[in-house]
Amino acid sequence: MQGNALRVLRQLGVWDEVAATGYAFNTVGLRAPDGALLVEMEDVRTGGPDLPATVGMYRPTLARILADAAAAAGAKLRYATTVRSFSQDADGVDVTFSDGTVSRYDLVIGADGVRSRVRSLLGIELETRPTGMGIWRVFTSRPDSVTRTDLYYHGACYIVGYCPTADDSLYAYLVEDVQDRTRLTPAQRLEVMRALAAHYHGPWDDIRDRMTDPGTINYTRFESHLLQPPWNRGRVVLIGDAAHTCPPTIAQGAAMALEDAAALADVLLAADRLDQDAFDAFTARRYDRVKTVVAESVQLGQWMLDGVEGNVAALMGKVMAVVSQPA
Ligand SMILES: Cc1cc2nc3c(=O)[nH]c(=O)nc-3n(C[C@H](O)[C@H](O)[C@H](O)COP(=O)(O)OP(=O)(O)OC[C@H]3O[C@@H](n4cnc5c(N)ncnc54)[C@H](O)[C@@H]3O)c2cc1C
Repeated sequence: MQGNALRVLRQLGVWDEVAATGYAFNTVGLRAPDGALLVEMEDVRTGGPDLPATVGMYRPTLARILADAAAAAGAKLRYATTVRSFSQDADGVDVTFSDGTVSRYDLVIGADGVRSRVRSLLGIELETRPTGMGIWRVFTSRPDSVTRTDLYYHGACYIVGYCPTADDSLYAYLVEDVQDRTRLTPAQRLEVMRALAAHYHGPWDDIRDRMTDPGTINYTRFESHLLQPPWNRGRVVLIGDAAHTCPPTIAQGAAMALEDAAALADVLLAADRLDQDAFDAFTARRYDRVKTVVAESVQLGQWMLDGVEGNVAALMGKVMAVVSQPA
């Protein structure tokens, strides 16, 4: 998570816990496949000078911190059920859950990810396009050699990197041409990822040694979509990946989702009533910023797929300038 995501977490009052459990760093490295460090750069602090540039964190740890904070603030959390259907009138939304219960709400927020059920229940057609890349990921213990993200842009894969997620853990990845890997057994997945990783050295030698458990390997494809405004239909609104998703080439997806939530909360708290003006104010605040992140994240991957030497520095500079602004 980059600084602009951390800014939202600080606003939510969970920054101290995130800082204590995640792994913060302020530089990024570029390495050659043989492990040689080519460049070390100060990373942009998009959340301002008093927040780190990046915090790596195990996703379930962040989910627990956020769920605890929501419960402490009075939210009622219900697990093991989902929305089956809903109907709405001018004053509220009646939601039927899969456990058979029905409740009425002033507002329904679909923050249910890239394949949002809420979005499909609204009848919104949104084509989620594969970008052409697939990513192998492993979650394992952190060797001393990994203290920040280093990226490798050459060799057998398009992008290779790693990110410490706590003192004792990291996540590492290799990006290739997307292909159907569904038929591989877990053991074969481990074998394929280890074979690709064998092209990379330096800290990757330590990471590869730790890649022994097939259960820690994940393969998924990069995708993208962007919903035109408005992001609501009546009193049901979509945020985060449900409304926009991008390949993680710039690693801004979680920040965009967190910023959506914060902006929606701001707009709702400032509004006298829940009407289309409030929803329009929300999307007006979010759309251009999200559009820039989605378009440039796709562009960065496309240059690699096409073998084009694009102006990466200018692209990154543009995105960092946009996301450094208050959301
Ligand atoms: C390979 C990869 C790497 C990434 N790396 C980064 C990165 O380094 N940094 C970054 O900022 N972003 C990254 N992203 C993007 C980031 O993961 C997403 O943008 C972010 O998680 C979106 O948050 P969200 O809350 O909108 O959706 P999600 O995180 O997908 O959360 C949706 C939630 O809704 C739940 N849900 C789904 N359907 C239902 C249902 N029907 N009923 C009830 N619950 C439901 C899901 O279980 C989930 O908990 C990456 C994405 C990918 C694919």
